[in-house]
Amino acid sequence: MSAQMDTPMVIQLRELAKTYRTGEVDVKAVRGITLNIHRGEFVAIMGASGSGKSTLMNMLGCLDQPSGGTYLLDGVRIAGLNRKQLATLRNRKLGFVFQSFNLLARTSALENVELPMFYGMPLVPLREQRERAVAALKKVGLGDRLGHHPSQLSGGQQQRIAIARALVNNPDVVLADEPTGNLDTRTSIEIMGFFQELNESGITIIMVTHELDIAAYCKRIIVMRDGQVISDTLNANRRHARQELDILNQAEKTAKLA
Ligand code: ADP
Ligand code: MG
Repeated sequence: MSAQMDTPMVIQLRELAKTYRTGEVDVKAVRGITLNIHRGEFVAIMGASGSGKSTLMNMLGCLDQPSGGTYLLDGVRIAGLNRKQLATLRNRKLGFVFQSFNLLARTSALENVELPMFYGMPLVPLREQRERAVAALKKVGLGDRLGHHPSQLSGGQQQRIAIARALVNNPDVVLADEPTGNLDTRTSIEIMGFFQELNESGITIIMVTHELDIAAYCKRIIVMRDGQVISDTLNANRRHARQELDILNQAEKTAKLA
């Protein structure tokens, strides 16, 4: 089920499976998932802890190989690629955002955002690296924090650095695993606002969350249980973060005047 049947598919999964072999027991973390995701979708993946969400995301991100089924990323069959080809594809097509931000601690915001370009092929000239990193940080409202280290910034600001880092190679798809999991409600809405903006600019977003309030900002909601998809629905009445933040800001202004 998909919102944009006429747009190209960026992700095609056929009976995708992952079994972890740890000593005596096999854990079937993902058991045969078949689905398509089209360009421009904004998908939430929900489900209880242990239902296989992160395992699925790791395979989508080419960080882990499936043990069964097929995965086509932008038409390319992932199983046929060697390590180097995988790294190149990942670098060119995908951006990652994690719950715990995964920033380098003793490194400035600017350098954190430049990092993915060091591995880029073809190599980006140094001056352009800097320009692109500055532009990405400005886009997430951190143009005045370029030299700050993560420890000097709030959780929301750190996640915005991580989003800038995910964007700096102009990915087609952003994969986010519980990106608001460590953030308060207001900051979570701000982060969802950035994701909605990115999505409107054409980037496909796939986001794991266990909060219905957060999934409510997405266009499509997939629910997993025991390694399988148990529901897959379009979210017709989605929330709009920008509008909500405008209302919150207005209410705060009014409260201050009173
Ligand atoms: P979720 O992200 O939905 O909480 P996970 O994908 O992390 O779920 O885990 C799904 C199942 O796979 C769980 O039973 C978990 O214990 C198991 N699992 C996850 N990663 C590994 C691993 N590296 N080795 C063995 N088992 C794992
Ligand atoms: Mg998880």
